Amino acid sequence: MSETRPVVIVGSGPAGSATALELHRLAPDLAADTLILDKATHPRPKVCAGGVIPAGRQWLESRDVPFDMPHVTVHKARARTPNATVDYAEPNFCYVIRRNEFDSALAGACRERGIELREGVAVRDLRRERDGVVVETDRGRIRARMVIGADGSGSAVRRRLVEEGRETIARAVMSDVPIETGSWDGFAERRYDFDFSDVPRGMQGYRWSFPCLIDGVPHANVGVYSLNRGSERIKQALSGELSLHGAANARHVAFPIRWYQRGKTRVAAESVLLAGDAAGADPLMGEGISLALEYGAFAAQAIVDAFRTDDYSGASYQRVIDGSWLGIKLGRLHATARWFYSRYWRWCFAVPERSPRLRALGLRWYNGIDDWDRRSIADAAISLLRKDFAQPRTIDGNA
Ligand SMILES: Cc1cc2nc3c(=O)[nH]c(=O)nc-3n(C[C@H](O)[C@H](O)[C@H](O)COP(=O)(O)OP(=O)(O)OC[C@H]3O[C@@H](n4cnc5c(N)ncnc54)[C@H](O)[C@@H]3O)c2cc1C
Repeated sequence: MSETRPVVIVGSGPAGSATALELHRLAPDLAADTLILDKATHPRPKVCAGGVIPAGRQWLESRDVPFDMPHVTVHKARARTPNATVDYAEPNFCYVIRRNEFDSALAGACRERGIELREGVAVRDLRRERDGVVVETDRGRIRARMVIGADGSGSAVRRRLVEEGRETIARAVMSDVPIETGSWDGFAERRYDFDFSDVPRGMQGYRWSFPCLIDGVPHANVGVYSLNRGSERIKQALSGELSLHGAANARHVAFPIRWYQRGKTRVAAESVLLAGDAAGADPLMGEGISLALEYGAFAAQAIVDAFRTDDYSGASYQRVIDGSWLGIKLGRLHATARWFYSRYWRWCFAVPERSPRLRALGLRWYNGIDDWDRRSIADAAISLLRKDFAQPRTIDGNA
């Protein structure tokens, strides 16, 4: 006899854990019967730079999940554009965590709430049946009324039950370098750096250096994100960025990032919802941790609505994601990526290079500071006119 559950969540990264945490908040009884499956065992490694924007931290704290894992608080950003180097300061602008510690803390928070997480269980296949989905794992079969695909970029849930499609895949490579090997001052300054200077040479992406702590030891996380380059060109770009850290040949790891295209990406089907990278991340920068948390909140609400209305079609979740501030933000990021990473780059970069106000607005919007990513265009326009809008705020303290 196979096991039966109302809800099975595949994946216990930020999207899977966020779905479960929010479900517990909205419908504790349903959460108590929910099962999370993960092929890995926490703390598991995850290829990621670990930049969590303020909106992500706020998401967790508003659900009583303490943000107490080791992290570096970033107060400054430096962007090298094709024409200029632009510095920006804003207190608590970003938090750089390590994903093994972060994801493990979120999974622990699910367990503390009594939600069952089975680790080391891989989902091998899924098929739809009349009243839900059959989930075949390497440890047996589970029947679920609803399945949440929170299984990352290569999502088996998406491929088996929602859509095939590989056209929206970006690539990212990264390397961790101990600070003492180079002369980079970003760690000491609590600053992260972005370099868009390859865009005029056709790269749709950027290089980065983030300060981070690995087992308490200061490191730089160095990487390259690209929507269009093949692996050899990306590795060359990475080697260039690594040379700034005195480590041109450091070992690197790579991972695909699936991104969301508003109006085209399918995020639901009968009895199935996708969340996080399985649905799609930000095409401009490849950011996805905080978005995964937000997807989780929408998915949990959709689960509750489905059981309340007996409508498991997923249609309302698709409409909510496309029409919500989240879908609108992802849509704008896609539009921005298309312009900035195009032959019009010169004009696009000129705007943030020359206007401190628009720069501040764009960065606050991107990082979800003070809910900027949920405000209307009219609100943004009014704020832009305020005299003090682009004044740097006080930075009080370090990590
Ligand atoms: C190099 C790189 C740098 C990045 N840097 C940043 C950054 O600085 N900031 C940021 O916000 N985002 C960043 N991202 C993106 C970020 O890592 C993802 O958006 C984020 O991990 C999405 O979370 P998720 O929960 O959707 O998926 P994941 O974190 O990928 O979690 C998926 C989970 O599903 C499990 N799983 C997969 N398949 C199965 C299966 N068949 N059966 C059972 N379990 C399964 C996996 O073990 C995993 O635990 C980066 C990505 C890369 C590649």
